[in-house]
Amino acid sequence: MKLVEYPNRPVPLERHLVYMRNESQKRYLMSNLVKREYNTKSKKGYRGQTIIFTNSRRKTHQIANYLQNKKINAKAYHAGLSYYKKEKIEKDFDKGKISVVVTTAALAAGVDFPASQVIFDSLIMGNKWISPNEFSQMLGRAGRPSYHDRGVVYILPEVGNSFEGVSEESMALDLLESSSEDVYIEYDEESAYEQILADISSKSIRNMQQLSDFYKNIDIPVSLKITIDELEDLGMVDVNPNSELKVTDYGRAVSMSFLSIPDAEFIKSSLESRSYLKNYVKQSPFYKKRDKFNRLKVKILAIAMDIEMFENAYLSSVIHNQIANALKIKFSTRLFAESTLDIISSGEAIEKLDKKYQDAIIALQTDFLKCKCEDRPFCRCLQLGISELIINERLKGKDPIDISNKLFRKYQIQVYPGDIFSWLDNYIKNLDAIKRIAASFNNKKVEKETHKLIKAIENG
Ligand SMILES: [Zn+2]
Repeated sequence: MKLVEYPNRPVPLERHLVYMRNESQKRYLMSNLVKREYNTKSKKGYRGQTIIFTNSRRKTHQIANYLQNKKINAKAYHAGLSYYKKEKIEKDFDKGKISVVVTTAALAAGVDFPASQVIFDSLIMGNKWISPNEFSQMLGRAGRPSYHDRGVVYILPEVGNSFEGVSEESMALDLLESSSEDVYIEYDEESAYEQILADISSKSIRNMQQLSDFYKNIDIPVSLKITIDELEDLGMVDVNPNSELKVTDYGRAVSMSFLSIPDAEFIKSSLESRSYLKNYVKQSPFYKKRDKFNRLKVKILAIAMDIEMFENAYLSSVIHNQIANALKIKFSTRLFAESTLDIISSGEAIEKLDKKYQDAIIALQTDFLKCKCEDRPFCRCLQLGISELIINERLKGKDPIDISNKLFRKYQIQVYPGDIFSWLDNYIKNLDAIKRIAASFNNKKVEKETHKLIKAIENG
């Protein structure tokens, strides 16, 4: 690990830039960073504590809730809290009882938490990018001479996020450069591949020399040579005898779609495979009973589904409460959590429900869990079935509110229309990726059919 010493800074500051693929990867990393910091004591005997800056009051609560679920003492802190609440959080933080406060960037100047670590969830403040001045003020929150041996800063830009035409990645670099000194950049192996492919695809890197110059000061977990060999083997990059680097049509399709390399390879090989559809249908609760369907259409829908199924389904609170009270147990309200799957497939639990709710759970089992999987009910059949139902309702022209109502009426499953909407949005992005990859291999049939499906799901 590289330490960066500031001549005018009382404690040295480590600055880390980590590129994130999505929100859940970011939250997961945050929870690990917060825990690690809290378990580290300074020479003066203080535990490391963290401030997370984000861009809305709502997000301070969302992030704090997520961390609390990971058994971290996290508190949301913003101008909307009462004076007493804020004072209590400040005092508890000062006593070292709280591991992390999640606050809005707008409060950076006002807060006085003796933190050793600062994490940037977002580089946006209100509705504009953080300015270099604001940024250095926020960096200044990390590390205090009377408490800590050093300060730590993490910036976690999400690849593909942009605002006012500027990508979060390049804004992160600009801000770090504005505050001078070297920066410690980290990639995990997978993001290193994606980043290098993107560099070649955008023509910002045209040959091996430029590549090694560019990555001279950047720490990547694989060698550049191996990365290029691998990208060439995958057919994403061409290297000519003069060491010039060129992206292939396939490589460009992958890069433009912000796909991970494994997801891209999954799409490519599934499109080519003769047995993919047969195997999919064999385990799908939805298509089993149907003899006739458009094979190409189902195959495309299935590939997009395999990349990401719908997740945010909950058991209705009435059912959850009836079972929890009757059996005196605590379990998750999330439908696809193991504890919930276990309970809704137990006869003992279902018996405790009112008749009407028993019927709903039995319908759920008959429609989605009649499989012969060895790990039933912990197999993916229920989640797959619910995801397929959502897509098929959408293809019938139903909107997210209709779909949410139907799931509730028939199965007592609670799904927020907003979650359906954002999942459909992502699903369309995955279909777009399939369309691009098919086009890069000149597969006109798949390209056309995927285009039709995208329009159908977009327009409802
Ligand atoms: Zn199953």
